[in-house]
Amino acid sequence: MSTVTPGLVCAHHHLYSALARGMPAPPKVATTFGEILEQVWWRLDAALDLEMIRWSAMLGALEALESGTTAIVDHHESPNAIEGSLSVIADACAEVGVRVVCAYGVTDRHGPDGAARGVEENRRFLAGGGRGLVGIHAAFTCSDATLEAAAGLARDLGVGVHVHVCEGLEDAAAPARLAGLTRDDWLLAHCVHLPTDHALKGTILHNPFSNLNNAVGYANPARFTNPVALGTDGIGADMIETFRIAYALERSVDVTCGPGTAWSWLETGWSLVPEAKGDRVTWSYDPMDPWQVAFTPGIRPLRVEIGGEAVFADGSPTRVDADEIRAKAREQAVRLHARL
Ligand SMILES: [Zn+2]
Repeated sequence: MSTVTPGLVCAHHHLYSALARGMPAPPKVATTFGEILEQVWWRLDAALDLEMIRWSAMLGALEALESGTTAIVDHHESPNAIEGSLSVIADACAEVGVRVVCAYGVTDRHGPDGAARGVEENRRFLAGGGRGLVGIHAAFTCSDATLEAAAGLARDLGVGVHVHVCEGLEDAAAPARLAGLTRDDWLLAHCVHLPTDHALKGTILHNPFSNLNNAVGYANPARFTNPVALGTDGIGADMIETFRIAYALERSVDVTCGPGTAWSWLETGWSLVPEAKGDRVTWSYDPMDPWQVAFTPGIRPLRVEIGGEAVFADGSPTRVDADEIRAKAREQAVRLHARL
């Protein structure tokens, strides 16, 4: 143990939600997970255009660097700006210097034409050499034909699928509907209401802060035999904080557990983005030992090297101007919130 670790991986992010902070409250208070989706996220994603997506991704990538996170596994949706959206996100992350694995979340929420355009955006980006997975929003917003089209595209291209599974009770049918489709390279986000004895293959992505915020329940990922990795579900990319919340939540149901399990979930990120393990983050705290980190607030990276290049040093990104990104993101957030 020392003050240096490999780059951290945020295994489930929504870079498009970086501009959500400060958005006007929904017309009425959402009382269920389904209402949160309808009144917050599905209004927000429908209002996005490519310029908003660009600055949202720039801000999200900047904040990842500022958290010592060198790789983001993103899940994107922008139903009125689908074509080209994955390239905009990949380019923004490349500009900041952060690794990203993109996916467009296919859904039938906007009819079969919207679903087909989502599948095509995944195909266009991946066939063009983009780093990514095929995205599916969730089984409960997709027809069987759409699920099969997305899974088939992933098989054809030799990549996995990134999909929300049983985040809320609305998606209770997912295990049965996805059972014949999943493979080991699938990423299954949330799995709060996934039965312990299930037939789905893939890595389970645990998002402790988001699950608390949506009151969907505790996933208790230690009960699964699948590999488990940690994500933020779009609420920043601070994986040290995410590890601390994951540990405390696990303690809340098992007071005998130590931080080793939650730390191992952090390390699973390197099986999803292996290059991140070669990145170097020098932290403000020594040693970066799970037992110490679990009880130490405010640990920050001092220096971040990605692929051998110092992309963050002395509190600032080296390739981009943090103040400019924040100012542009604020301008785009004003435009976005005005549309809601
Ligand atoms: Zn999500």
